[in-house]
Amino acid sequence: MPANVERVKSLIRNIPDFPKPGIQFKDITPLLGSPRGFCDAMEAMLEASPQKIDAVAGIESRGFIFSAPMALMLHVGLVPIRKPGKLPGTVFEQSFDLEYGSSTLAMHQDALQPGQRVLLVDDLLASGGTLIAAAKLIERAGAIVAHTSVLIELIDLGGRQAMADAGLTSVSSILTY
Ligand code: AMP
Repeated sequence: MPANVERVKSLIRNIPDFPKPGIQFKDITPLLGSPRGFCDAMEAMLEASPQKIDAVAGIESRGFIFSAPMALMLHVGLVPIRKPGKLPGTVFEQSFDLEYGSSTLAMHQDALQPGQRVLLVDDLLASGGTLIAAAKLIERAGAIVAHTSVLIELIDLGGRQAMADAGLTSVSSILTY
């Protein structure tokens, strides 16, 4: 593993049984508290992603932390994919199952133009439900998910296969557990 990725990994804290028994929660707050580590993480995510995109879409809440710097670095706009009831305009909504519980995501209907190539960003890929729901929102706007970038992938939860089954085959992660 390259030294910069090693440094990023050393700044992810595992919290057993949070928020429920059996969940190994990957806490990114030590990484966010390290300017060097956060910068390494952003550079690694950027290197693993295509540069020719029209917009970045980030998923509330932790996805915002990683998607906003990527949008700035790629000189494109940022589309927030939010929990329901937060966006003021007309939205598409998509419900899905989580590793723990279920949820709904929403996106402004006019956030993307048909044919735009979108880089979809979140902090972590577990079962894939969140990213697949976000991708459906992007596709409902007529845009294309060109690539999905996450910092962390929990391999055993099969998210990558679930994403492939949903037609999302261009996926990168920096750290796998
Ligand atoms: P999933 O939809 O199952 O792929 O879950 C991904 C979303 O849930 C991400 O937005 C993560 O922030 C959160 N998440 C799921 N499992 C974990 C975990 N073990 N540690 C931290 N966050 C998690």
